[in-house]
Amino acid sequence: MNFNEKLESIKTYEAGKPIELVVREFGIEPKDIVKLASNENPYGCSPKVQDAVAKIVSNMSLYPDDSMLSLKNALSEQFFVEDENIIIGSGSDQVIEFIMHAKTNFNSKILINSVTFAMYEIYAKHTGAEVIRTASQEHDLDEFYELYKSEKPEVIFLCTPNNPTGDAIDSKDIFAFLQKIDNDTLVVIDGAYMEYATYKDKSKSIAPKDLISKFENVIYLGTFSKAFGLGGMRVGYGISNAKIIKELYKLRPPFNITTLSLEAATIALKDKKYVNRCIKLNFDEMKRYEEYAKEKKIDIINSYTNFVTLTLKNRQNSKDISNSLLKKGMIVRDLSGYGMNAVRVTVGTKEQNSRFFELFSELI
Ligand SMILES: *Cc1c(COP(=O)(O)O)cnc(C)c1O
Repeated sequence: MNFNEKLESIKTYEAGKPIELVVREFGIEPKDIVKLASNENPYGCSPKVQDAVAKIVSNMSLYPDDSMLSLKNALSEQFFVEDENIIIGSGSDQVIEFIMHAKTNFNSKILINSVTFAMYEIYAKHTGAEVIRTASQEHDLDEFYELYKSEKPEVIFLCTPNNPTGDAIDSKDIFAFLQKIDNDTLVVIDGAYMEYATYKDKSKSIAPKDLISKFENVIYLGTFSKAFGLGGMRVGYGISNAKIIKELYKLRPPFNITTLSLEAATIALKDKKYVNRCIKLNFDEMKRYEEYAKEKKIDIINSYTNFVTLTLKNRQNSKDISNSLLKKGMIVRDLSGYGMNAVRVTVGTKEQNSRFFELFSELI
């Protein structure tokens, strides 16, 4: 059977290996498996979410509220924007998909960092857009600007803090960069880990309101999958000016967010105390990774997120090490596919991190 030829160049996205597969492949008991591969919140979501969701489980026959009013109200209160500035996706992944279809086709280009979130490229391939990458591993906005001038991309993605490296761009540099970009080019600020960056260092913090009140060609992306502990619920959002949101809405499938997910995200957003506590614990535990790396003389990238990236020595191979860890029930992310000899490890609970240090030390 023939398929759309665009599919030939698309590799299926490899998500962090699910616990279920490790159980089946290696016969390890689920309780002995530690997953530090997808940057989920190891403490889970606010207990208030569980109570609220439990209450509405009995009411699943009706379609969800497609206006998403309560979640939009919660987001507009949080970010000081209007409902018309918000679009909600099944994960911010889906908003990336809308953006790509709204702005690009096979004649288009997108500009991204050399090492960054894999979904930008995958969605670009859906529309046939060409992907231009910088050479620098960290976001170098001068290089972005040079490539912007020579390549004229339709969309520029800035992922800050960046996945899978954890570093972040100074917000003042982003604002200076945006000043130089023409209104026809859409700039996406992917803030999937912004809650962590804001906590650690205000100079890396970007408020969507500041972006959209100054620039009409920018969209901010956020998600409930990371700090809010709702990876299983699939909720993300885009914040931009009303004109852009209106165009993206044309691509949105009806009822793209389930009733349970809408409720969970709304309640999670309001329990700020809980999220802040998780973020504080995250950075407390991250210190242990920094000390561990120092002790073992391993390079660690200064991270503004809930994961750390450990760069291995030449004689060690991140793919082999990740596989060996997997056989012991420890799931981390090998970054060899990104051209790095490194592993990305989500900062887990105290026990999970101790287990990581123990197993990793056996291998290096
Ligand atoms: C996790 C992540 C997302 C989106 O996650 P969703 O679960 O689809 O909301 C987007 N960008 C980056 C950089 C991420 O790490």
